[in-house]
Amino acid sequence: MLLPLPLREAYDYRVPDGMELVPGDFVEVPLGPRRLIGVVWGPGAGTVESVRLKAVVRRFDVPPMTEVGRRFVEWVAAYTMTLPGFVLRMAVSVPSALEPPKPMLAYLRKPDAEPPPGFKMTDPRKRILALLTDGPPRTPAELAEEAGCGVTVVRGLAEAGLLDPVMLQPTRLGRPDWRRPGPALSANQQGAADDLRERVTSGCYSTVLLDGVTGSGKTEVYYEAISAALEQGKQALVLLPEIALSAQWLDRFARRFGAPPAEWHSELTGAQRRDTWRAVSKGEVPVVVGARSALFLPYPDLGVIIVDEEHDSAYKQEEGAIYHARDMAVARAHLGGLPIVLVSATPSLETKVNADSHRYARIELPSRHGGAVLPDVELVDLRRDRPPARHWLAPSLRKALTDTLAGGEQAMLFLNRRGYAPLTLCRACGHRMQCPNCTAWLVEHRLARKLQCHHCGLQQPLPHACPECGEEGTMAACGPGVERIAEEVAELFPDARAAIMASDTLHGPRAIQEMVESIGRHELDIIIGTQVMAKGHHFPMLTLVGVVDADLGLNGGDLRAAERTYQLLHQVAGRAGRGERPGRVMLQTFMPEHPVMQALAVGDRDGFYQLEAEMRLEAGMPPFGRLAALIVSGEDPTLVERVAMALGRAAPRSDTVHILGPAPAPLALLRGRHRRRLLMKAPRSTQVQPLIAEWLDRVEIPPAIRVQIDVDPYSFL
Ligand code: ADP
Ligand code: ZN
Repeated sequence: MLLPLPLREAYDYRVPDGMELVPGDFVEVPLGPRRLIGVVWGPGAGTVESVRLKAVVRRFDVPPMTEVGRRFVEWVAAYTMTLPGFVLRMAVSVPSALEPPKPMLAYLRKPDAEPPPGFKMTDPRKRILALLTDGPPRTPAELAEEAGCGVTVVRGLAEAGLLDPVMLQPTRLGRPDWRRPGPALSANQQGAADDLRERVTSGCYSTVLLDGVTGSGKTEVYYEAISAALEQGKQALVLLPEIALSAQWLDRFARRFGAPPAEWHSELTGAQRRDTWRAVSKGEVPVVVGARSALFLPYPDLGVIIVDEEHDSAYKQEEGAIYHARDMAVARAHLGGLPIVLVSATPSLETKVNADSHRYARIELPSRHGGAVLPDVELVDLRRDRPPARHWLAPSLRKALTDTLAGGEQAMLFLNRRGYAPLTLCRACGHRMQCPNCTAWLVEHRLARKLQCHHCGLQQPLPHACPECGEEGTMAACGPGVERIAEEVAELFPDARAAIMASDTLHGPRAIQEMVESIGRHELDIIIGTQVMAKGHHFPMLTLVGVVDADLGLNGGDLRAAERTYQLLHQVAGRAGRGERPGRVMLQTFMPEHPVMQALAVGDRDGFYQLEAEMRLEAGMPPFGRLAALIVSGEDPTLVERVAMALGRAAPRSDTVHILGPAPAPLALLRGRHRRRLLMKAPRSTQVQPLIAEWLDRVEIPPAIRVQIDVDPYSFL
């Protein structure tokens, strides 16, 4: 029996008379004083006499976890060096889904109801009523959580006659219909679609890179693969990097298949999670679209996996079990014997190299659908074309904005930095406002009138006087965030309708969707956005994209800095000129000669990849070599240092395996914990997991110290 706890081994239990269990069954078992959910993993080890074993309490009435599902849990645990029980916890993330659903009491706001005399409208009560003004009925527990108060507040409102009770039935999930015809495909698209259909129908493992410029119809083509899976009576899984931001994708899917897919991400309510998990396990959900955790749902018979924007770093989970969802998805497809499609206009170098060496198949869509042309990319050399002091838009970009607005078209300014200014310092003494818990500056958010740490979430009011020297009125904002660019836009174009689009100015997927729709209706002229708006959106009237600081991602010098900058800017650029009007992209840079900028300017994607691949090959870096990181952290810096040094001394070293560090992590302090890093670098053919396991066995790790293992690290902070 495997329990969803950080345990190394499965535990033995006795099966009571009259209970029949098969591997994969979900059961309830005692552990000490607790009752837990477990999954039957196989026959017992027999090391404990059966009379001394505790008995299984009951078996849940849901289909057992499949053989493939169990092997997948084991595979992920072994690869990422996480305990299997910990991975299992991701697969049984909603224990309540194992119980048959009960109708649940929920509340709506009663229209026009007036509070009875003497009923005080306290703030929590007002918040709950405000929550219910729009949005679906919610259970008392959900309302209490969202409003940040107790359930008694909800009951009080109900007793005062201000709420209408309704019984919630289990979430009804739609049934996408594969018989609905898609659009007529171009010859190229049709060839790609036929290839994918055939792979799905043959039901064998293969990995395909679907490589095509933005707007070439990749989505349209992979819909055909989904349709083929449904035709076979199988399920399809689509992974998106940020599902909560993908309202446009969901609408489009629903138009194509007549019903929405089931969603799986962190924004779902408890009831939605429960009903979706249960329905998936019973095979009642044909299509799931989700974030990386959707990989661990209990699919009975998956027919295809699609990983859209496969290069996106959001697929790397950095907390808890550290895993890369794209790589795990390939393993899942392999174990389950099914095709997987990796989709991107700018594939990761890993995937590109695998396709070049024919480990993966490749399907190409070389041109935009309907003759739309790719935008012209111009470099704005900030060394010559200088913005005025304490302003950030160069004269040529200002001119382009003026022309775009005059032509009745829309423009977008991209800066991947939230808030007003990334640094606040004292002009008198030079003191910089820094987070006490992290190695990071505090970011000014002028709209919220706060300084914020983007790592630990710390917030404090903007100081009037310098906390160091006490001078008043000397604190100055340095550098721009989107709020500051918005200020500049307002100054330059007072009549233009402008808005900021960033994760902290738009609260939740609904707000993002509304903003996207209002851009689509041309209710805005200039959008100033962060990464949130780089993704997938399609705006026909958007013809100018200005990148305020194209060099931003290149600083910091991590392994993938150039690759990621290229991918992000390429994607941002792809927002321009998606309709009939041609688009124009302007990149402001201090390094116009940098290979990333050159590749973007001349549209030489493959040249850039070639150069990048040569550099990685030379350095023995991924995808040509392997990396694994150990991050040692704890509250006591001396102890952290001591353990890190001990790990350094005990490290496996050979002609081919090199250990870098221990060194202070760039984020040497994070949420109050001191951090040291060690990096193992090995040839691609080396299995790093056994080396690391032996290494850790040689060093005693005190309980106050945490050692995280990150196989194939993407973050070096
Ligand atoms: P990608 O996923 O490669 O960015 P999309 O599938 O989103 O491309 O296609 C870009 C736009 O072109 C979408 O609005 C899509 O509906 C449209 N499109 C693509 N192929 C076709 C087609 N064969 N017929 C009609 N519209 C198409
Ligand atoms: Zn912090």
